[in-house]
Amino acid sequence: MTQPVIWLDGAWKTKETATISVYDHGLLYGDGIFEGLRIYAGRVFRLEDHLKRLYNSAQYLRIAMPLKSEELADWVQQAVARWGQQTGYIRLLVTRGVGALGLDPQKCEKPAVIIIVDEIQLYPPEMYQTGIPIITASVRRTPRSSSEARVKSLNYLNNILAKMEAREAGCLEALMLNTEGLVAECTADNIFLVHQNKLFTPAAVHGALEGITRKVVLECAEALAIPYEEAALAPYDVYTAEEVFMTGSGAEIMPITKVDGRTIGNGKPGPVTEQLKAAFHEVTIQD
Ligand code: PMP
Repeated sequence: MTQPVIWLDGAWKTKETATISVYDHGLLYGDGIFEGLRIYAGRVFRLEDHLKRLYNSAQYLRIAMPLKSEELADWVQQAVARWGQQTGYIRLLVTRGVGALGLDPQKCEKPAVIIIVDEIQLYPPEMYQTGIPIITASVRRTPRSSSEARVKSLNYLNNILAKMEAREAGCLEALMLNTEGLVAECTADNIFLVHQNKLFTPAAVHGALEGITRKVVLECAEALAIPYEEAALAPYDVYTAEEVFMTGSGAEIMPITKVDGRTIGNGKPGPVTEQLKAAFHEVTIQD
């Protein structure tokens, strides 16, 4: 197995030496942000989009990034060169940094920046052929009045609770609704529905993270002349869809074949999902 490549505030580390302080507010309070990216064909997929989202998250949370986006991009490229593999996963992490005890972010001098390049496998490969069953979690997505869904922060506790509900129900993933009962997304992936050959996906206002994979899928839909719409969706729309799938950098495109015990379509990954999956993989190789 290839050893992970880790960059921590300007120094190359190993898994054993890459440690952070117990006074880091990322650990103490979940005060930080992150990104998950993929390497395809030896290249970082959609690095600019991920950096844009990271820097927007920093801007929203008033985390003063200690290095420019181009500088971080450069370190990411160096990390990927050290990794030396055609495929892989990159985790970018920015914490508020080390500070005194107490929430006040002003007590932290400098944000910590971390790059990890490693392997990831969220689901067994055969599940991409069969699709997976999911349940709707009772835990809701944090409302916008509390935290903006577009910010990819280190606060995933309700998503983790939802994931635990999924595991209890014998599923690997859960659908999360917003506080109005509308479909938001899965615990770490965006959701798509197909109704009469048209794609539907919740918008950021419904509690969806603006996923990069989601964006690429919408680009693929455009290229394939598949109409799409960002829409307010209820569980009813999910249950009655012909196809359902979820997207994320880690999960890529995963068909969903059962939701809360309702079989979706004929219980197999549908043709629109398969078409988009193929188009997506083509883009990852060509980009
Ligand atoms: N929603 C949430 C809550 C996520 O954490 C993620 C990333 N894992 C996604 C959606 C998918 O986003 P992306 O395609 O950019 O990975």
